[in-house]
Amino acid sequence: MLTRRQFLAGLGAVAVTAVLPLSLFRYEARVKAEGKEEGKETLAPQYPDCDWVIDRVVIIDGSGEPAYQGRVAVKGERITAVGDFALSPEVQIIDGQGLVLTPGFIDIHTHAEDYFYSGGDMSPFLSQGVTAQIGGNCGRSPKDIQGYFATIPKMAINYGLLMGYATLRQMVHGRDRSGKTTTAEQLKMQKYLRKAMADGAVGLSVGLEYWPQTYATTEEIIALCEVVKEAGGFYATHIRSEYDRVLEAVGEAILIGKKVGIPVQYCHIKTGYKRNWAKLPKILEMLEEAVESGLDIRADLYGYTYSSTDLGKKPFISSISEENLELAAAHPLTFFGSDAGMYAGGRATHPRAYGNIPRILGRLVREKKILSLETAIAKMTSQPARRLGLTNRGLLRKGYQADLVLFDPETIIDKGTKENPSVFSEGVRQVWVNGTLAWAEGRLLNDNSGQVVN
Ligand SMILES: [Zn+2]
Repeated sequence: MLTRRQFLAGLGAVAVTAVLPLSLFRYEARVKAEGKEEGKETLAPQYPDCDWVIDRVVIIDGSGEPAYQGRVAVKGERITAVGDFALSPEVQIIDGQGLVLTPGFIDIHTHAEDYFYSGGDMSPFLSQGVTAQIGGNCGRSPKDIQGYFATIPKMAINYGLLMGYATLRQMVHGRDRSGKTTTAEQLKMQKYLRKAMADGAVGLSVGLEYWPQTYATTEEIIALCEVVKEAGGFYATHIRSEYDRVLEAVGEAILIGKKVGIPVQYCHIKTGYKRNWAKLPKILEMLEEAVESGLDIRADLYGYTYSSTDLGKKPFISSISEENLELAAAHPLTFFGSDAGMYAGGRATHPRAYGNIPRILGRLVREKKILSLETAIAKMTSQPARRLGLTNRGLLRKGYQADLVLFDPETIIDKGTKENPSVFSEGVRQVWVNGTLAWAEGRLLNDNSGQVVN
């Protein structure tokens, strides 16, 4: 934690004032009038218990409800008041005039394990307003979930992990990675997965398109999902084909979800190759039908039309058409996840690691107006929080953790490109993680206020 002095120094260019700003709120007039009339202590305004207040902001609370002008009070790690409340003359005020305040963004799909472990300061994520991320995706995770958390040198943002199918397979199937697993191996995988869930994993991830995960049978995954369901987790699937057999692959994900009765997160929705573009609306229909029949399935996506590989020759692959990206982004059964990998020193191979959120808010919301700012924010906060079962993050509510983002909706934009991906975005002014100012005006102020999310 920063001391108050460091905290104030860290505010940089944003004005800090202990003086009540010009009245914007009805209640201030009301409180003054009451004080004058009665002159009684009993009618003194009720101040929220807080250390500081961010004032004169446009509040977008993450629920999808319309924005409104207000203030937010914080004490320690928690939000103590939101909206319309009296300001004590002694309280520290941060003036956020002209800016939007939202819950911290939750990135449900990342691959930043190496970066976390190597002491990465998380600036690329923090700089976008991301205050929580979920790793271990697409089948690849640490083997020992608890041990991994225990050895992370510093955690600048909140972090949770999925247990990966490829990892489980590697733990039981030995050095020869090819071929189907035996029944005995499958039982062992279930045992290890049970342990991972008890150690705090949020669910099971698979990457069925990748060798040797391609050997996994539907039945094998169903048995593993039964274990996850017992522990209250979810199934995160990079489906078996994102190209020519994408419809069949979505069908398998839905079948597994229905058979087990487990929430399904369909990772990075896309239909690669032009010949498959017409399948995307069909996939959205399949998701709608599945939800209507009772399955809790959502898809996540990032704000780019190309994906990356580390194979070198052709580092970027066109993965979705612009039209389909917009269609998927605006759909009520999707929310956002970056799919960002991150390597030692903050090196990224794809600009999404530095720019996914600002790109969505700048291009899809502000420029193209394909979804409202309130809806986009809900897709970055409360919707992923709901998938994770979090009841203390993802909304601006009294009692919630003070993960907060202050940004300028008129200027927020990504700056990274295919050629030069590791470039910070613009427009995010300040980011708090569990009540601590972690990022302000382009500078990292605290690299260790994150907590394990599970
Ligand atoms: Zn994937």
